[in-house]
Formats: sequence, C-alpha cells, structure tokens
Amino acid sequence: MSKKKIATFWLGGCSGCHMSLLDIDERILEVAKLAEIVKSPIVDGKELPEVDVSLVEGAVCNQEHAEEIRAIRAKSRILVAFGDCAVTANVPSMRNRFTKEEALERAYRGVESDDGRGRMPAVEIAPLIDRVAPLHEHVKVDYYIPGCPPSADLIFYVVAELLNDRVPVLGQGTQLKYG
Ligand code: SF4
Repeated sequence: MSKKKIATFWLGGCSGCHMSLLDIDERILEVAKLAEIVKSPIVDGKELPEVDVSLVEGAVCNQEHAEEIRAIRAKSRILVAFGDCAVTANVPSMRNRFTKEEALERAYRGVESDDGRGRMPAVEIAPLIDRVAPLHEHVKVDYYIPGCPPSADLIFYVVAELLNDRVPVLGQGTQLKYG
C-alpha cells in the first residue's frame, strides 16, 4: 500500500499548535510509516502538492491567509482545523473589536516598548481583512482538533485515525485536554 501524503500549515497563529505536534515525540515514526510529510513549517518543501490530510493552524487574518486556505482546500482530500485559532478564531479574533486601522496603529505606532518612535513597517505587510475568521467561514472543514494548543495525545489520535481511514471520535479513546 502506498503511503498517504500529509501536510501542515501555519496561518494566523502563534505556532503553539505545531509545538504540540512536535510533542508527539517518537510517535512521529508511526506517522512516518503511514504517511509522508510533504509540506510543513517543520520540514522542507516549497510546493503545495495534493495531499490526503492537511492540518491548518491559525485563523484567517489577512488576504494572504484567505488565498492560502482556498489553495490548501483545493489540494486537500481532508482538511483539519488544527487548534482553537483555526476552529473559532480564538486569540487573533480579539482584533475584531477594532477597525483594521486601529489595530495597525496600536501594533506599530502605539506600542509602549517603542518609546513613541513607532512607525509602520518598511516592508510590505499583507493587507488585513475586515474580520478575523475561523477556517470554516472561508472553506469547508472536514474535522476539528480543539485546544489551545491541542494536546499531543489528541493530535496523534486524530492523525492516526485519519491515516488509517477511520473517523476520529473526540472523547473516545482520548482525553480532551486544554493547555
Ligand atoms: S490555538 Fe493557541 S497554541 Fe494554537 S496557534 Fe492559537 S493561540 Fe497558538
């Protein structure tokens, strides 16, 4: 049986979900028996290939994210919202109480650590979208892994079930742990 292909992506998140993924430790060898990790922030690989399973961390915060999640959806047989930012928009959605302009002003000009010398970045930053949103507001999501971050046990359980063509059932065979 040929190996499946799996990829992970990082949109508007803190990378904590990927750190938790690394915490599956030696169980990565079990994943490697079933699948090849073809693209991820934690491995090399520039192209976006067709994959069986995509884990997507983070909310959709800017236009680049919105385009990327559509491209990921188009190439993924199964798309998983990976962690609370992807599932609910979580921490990044705190920005939704303010306008885009207020958020940028606060982040770059009003920050206390900058001695009032703050200025907008010289490099171009991706244009913010009006409202930070969870993945399912932009594309169809097949499965959700909750948690901030999800526990390594939960991540491994869901990934192993999907790679074995089974439907993961949260709360059975695993504990839902937050933090
Ligand atoms: S869910 Fe939590 S750990 Fe994961 S990206 Fe969001 S803030 Fe970070």
